Amino acid sequence: MSDCIFCKIVKGEIPSTKIFENETVIGFKDLRPQAKIHQLFIHKSHTKDINDLAKNDPKELSDVFNAIRTYTMNEGLEKGGFRVVTNLGPNAGQTVFHTHFHVLAGEPLGHFGS
Ligand code: C5P
Repeated sequence: MSDCIFCKIVKGEIPSTKIFENETVIGFKDLRPQAKIHQLFIHKSHTKDINDLAKNDPKELSDVFNAIRTYTMNEGLEKGGFRVVTNLGPNAGQTVFHTHFHVLAGEPLGHFGS
């Protein structure tokens, strides 16, 4: 999608600090980190959110989660643990409409849930 900022990152039209790349997925550092380690993982194909992605081609989900698995295992993040978050829509505060998964790690993140 021509006006999508993450599509521009995929195409190298705007800079990012890539921490992972394979044929289908890239991971890069979030510009405004919310934890010591804060990476974003996206499929190179454009979809606007997780429901759009699952409807379009559910394999994209496994592509992204396999990338997250490879990255977190290579970086040894399983030991301390990490959190994966995706936002959909205004209540969740989604600001970029290219499906992305936040990977947060490197320090205690605070308990999420009841
Ligand atoms: O889930 P949400 O849509 O709010 O997340 C978008 C994320 O993309 C933000 O954490 C923001 O810091 C990040 N971002 C980035 N590089 C950009 C634009 C946004 O890391 N060029």
